[in-house]
Amino acid sequence: MITSISRINDTHRVIPGELDMPKRLLLGPGPSNADPRVLEALSAAPVGHLDPTFIELMNEVQTLLRYAWQTDNHLTIPVSATGSAAMEATMANSVEPGDVVLVGAIGYFGHRLIDMAGRYGGDVRKMTKPWGEVFNIAEIRQGLETHRPSVLALVHAETSTGARQPLEGVGDLCREYNCLLVLDTVTSLGGVPLFLDEWGVDLAFSCSQKGLSCPPGIAPFTMSPRAVEKLQRRQVQVSNWYLDMSLVSKYWGSDRTYHHTAPINMNYALREGLRLLAQEGLEARWERHQANAELLWEGLDSLGLQCHVEREFRLPTLTTVRIPSGVDGKAVTKHLLADYNLEIGGGLGELAGQVWRIGLMGFNSDRKNVELLLDALETVLAKPEVKK
Ligand SMILES: *Cc1c(COP(=O)(O)O)cnc(C)c1O
Repeated sequence: MITSISRINDTHRVIPGELDMPKRLLLGPGPSNADPRVLEALSAAPVGHLDPTFIELMNEVQTLLRYAWQTDNHLTIPVSATGSAAMEATMANSVEPGDVVLVGAIGYFGHRLIDMAGRYGGDVRKMTKPWGEVFNIAEIRQGLETHRPSVLALVHAETSTGARQPLEGVGDLCREYNCLLVLDTVTSLGGVPLFLDEWGVDLAFSCSQKGLSCPPGIAPFTMSPRAVEKLQRRQVQVSNWYLDMSLVSKYWGSDRTYHHTAPINMNYALREGLRLLAQEGLEARWERHQANAELLWEGLDSLGLQCHVEREFRLPTLTTVRIPSGVDGKAVTKHLLADYNLEIGGGLGELAGQVWRIGLMGFNSDRKNVELLLDALETVLAKPEVKK
């Protein structure tokens, strides 16, 4: 006899209907749609996180991440969380209290790196540019010369602006000035040419829901031997237990000792997303993203719309489009969602209210999607309701 029954409060016992989500086409800054093969992998039966079959799968994921990033880094793993956690892991593991950290901020995510570096005790210095622009190599050299940092952090693909930061020569400069190079590759991995080792990148991170065609929830992370050495030399322990790579790497390394329970099914999903990438091949994949982006840019131009970023530095994965004067940007995105089940993003920070953000990432980088969006935009822009 359960005597407490009378004490149960039924106020919150609301029984919703069966899950019934709309099928949206996600052409915003992320998440983008997962590949159907990924969704199928996601629903496979979970095994234990130390099961021999899962350990084999972990090895496959690690190898494929090295391929995707073009790195031989031994410490290459998916963090069990979203991209922001992998971002935080780069700061937690590379910054010791008092270290000078130079962050190049060309948009929203650069400013997030500044915030995180400060929380880990970094003596943070920043270089900024107007949103939509990128640093040239002379500006980066000047920053290193002025601040002499232990860590330089840059954003390869700034999702808030659609700009691609060129990396050629930056790694060599970081060696000349003896600092580690941290790179945000969240919106470039799986869609934009990336050569981590050739570029001398020491720590990098990404996410699953943009170029890798998975749902959000797992986040690639990698650390070079130079960065691991700095981690091993630390005087003060990493001040975040969950993201401390000296602990996490014991599970992902040869020890396979328990640290936290890996999100088994998200690892299935990531493996399938990376398997798709390997089957397509990096070159074909990068070309597909570039070709579909160019098709979009031409189409926007025909509609009389203007891209925010100079062509040379445009990301193929994320395009910022200037909202024409006299048009209500929010009304347009609302109509696209309501009438076409199609999501695009609005502007962030300095670009709030000024641009739309269109993502063509991974599975979604497809000619048919570009055509659908351009047709929908043309129709919606002609509606009197979207005029200001
Ligand atoms: C999306 C994004 C992140 C954050 O990733 P989440 O998965 O949203 O936590 C970080 N940096 C950039 C450039 C991004 O676009």
